[in-house]
Amino acid sequence: MVPDPLPLLAKVFGYPAFRGVQAEVVERVLAGRRTLAVMPTGAGKSLCYQLPAVMMEGCCVVVSPLIALMHDQLRGAEAVGIRAATLTSVDENRGETMARFRNGDLDLLYVAPERASSGHFRELLASAKLSLFAIDEAHCVSEWGHDFRPDYRLLEPLMDAFPDVPRLALTATADAHTRADIAKQLGISADGTIVSGFDRPNIRYSISPKANTNRQIADLIAATPGPGIVYAQTRAATEKLAEALARTGRPTRAYHAGLEPHIRAKNQADFVASEDMVICATVAFGMGIDKPDVRFVAHAGLPKSIEAYYQETGRAGRDGDPSVAHLFWGAEDFARARQRIGEVEPERQAGERARLQSLAALVETAGCRRRILLRHFGEDLAEDCGNCDNCLGSPDAVDATETARKFLSAVFRTGQMFGAGYIESVLTGQSSERSLMNGHEALSVWNIVSGEEVALLKPVGRALLLRDALRTNPHGGLEFGPAARAILKGEARVSLIVPAPREKRRRRSAPV
Ligand code: ADP
Ligand code: ZN
Repeated sequence: MVPDPLPLLAKVFGYPAFRGVQAEVVERVLAGRRTLAVMPTGAGKSLCYQLPAVMMEGCCVVVSPLIALMHDQLRGAEAVGIRAATLTSVDENRGETMARFRNGDLDLLYVAPERASSGHFRELLASAKLSLFAIDEAHCVSEWGHDFRPDYRLLEPLMDAFPDVPRLALTATADAHTRADIAKQLGISADGTIVSGFDRPNIRYSISPKANTNRQIADLIAATPGPGIVYAQTRAATEKLAEALARTGRPTRAYHAGLEPHIRAKNQADFVASEDMVICATVAFGMGIDKPDVRFVAHAGLPKSIEAYYQETGRAGRDGDPSVAHLFWGAEDFARARQRIGEVEPERQAGERARLQSLAALVETAGCRRRILLRHFGEDLAEDCGNCDNCLGSPDAVDATETARKFLSAVFRTGQMFGAGYIESVLTGQSSERSLMNGHEALSVWNIVSGEEVALLKPVGRALLLRDALRTNPHGGLEFGPAARAILKGEARVSLIVPAPREKRRRRSAPV
């Protein structure tokens, strides 16, 4: 019979009740069944293995990808009196830890995935009773995930050596496809997956094109009291931002891996203790940090993927109070991302491209952001959320479907071999030797775009590429991709968020 976990939940952790799917996950684990738990950041994943670890006989082996994270977890576990240790290259007390393990004096043993390949480690595990394998950040096992780590592939054979020990894989970030792959890679049956709800209704999502990013973020800060995180893409950028944003009058700090460890630790501690600090950080910041009252998360540039965006914005508002997630992006972010995709191994490029596509769809939609975000995690929103920039009425959204159809027609009629610049010149009737020679001035698409619509051509061209309606051939020419047909036939619409022309913006914000 499976024992009742509730009394221990209160006694050890001090919680009166389980949250969300925790009960379901813990119950399955206690019943010894292999499980994949997909739960958003902040949903309380650690408890799902820590509680069983306390209740079950033997030691629970927790695989976790980041040593810093492990030490946070260790402190958390020890703070509630769980007998826990980490076994990593930086731990000097490895001998002592191994002795504690062999003696059955540990409930939890945190290890890095690369241990899995070591024969010594396997012998160690065989030397005492194991209660559970807990695989944290389990998406690292999948090439479809956003953070593939080859060492995670060694876990299945290791766990197979202990067939009677139950497995619990945990991740915050997995679309349906990745989810199925994780389960397969870790030997968990498809029906062993438990997915918790992903919606964070108290977070208001906004996404804007960059205009003057520092100014935009300063405005956001001015409008949003309380602690906040600003994610920037490089170490230098975090420091520059921290400096620029200090002018808002709020205390600011930078946080990145290049800072001296004691400064980094102090900045983090200051932030956790503060009620109004803004921390400008690289994405490494926030993992394992337990600060429930973060009121806003801003991105000064495109995140790596929808998963990463969801995880990073998920650090806002864990206390359930209204919070803001605001992403500022530029076309150059997409260009850089595409360039990076060109540099990864060929077999991973399709997945990476699909990931960028999903992100582009989220960024460029004129519809409900939350709907797109949740759909990515396999959830359908019954109606628009009413709490994202587009639901609340975005001033900058335009329906560009007609322009997109003209663009595609021009690509088609000129033979799917010319670059975006030439296509634009055909559509706007810029006569040249080339257009004369090619006979393109006689085409029905010649000179059919004029006036304000001209400004849409560049963003439309980009949007069509991002949506896979157009692809670039090796010579830089544009040709149709699989999404072209639906747009040409009027079955799919193309809406864009385009920055208002600079001149207009200036006029709007100038004092009268
Ligand atoms: P995750 O790893 O899913 O991001 P954590 O395990 O760090 O989440 O937990 C997030 C927060 O929720 C922590 O502050 C934790 O103490 C708290 N928490 C977890 N389970 C419960 C519960 N049943 N009741 C109340 N608080 C909980
Ligand atoms: Zn919405």
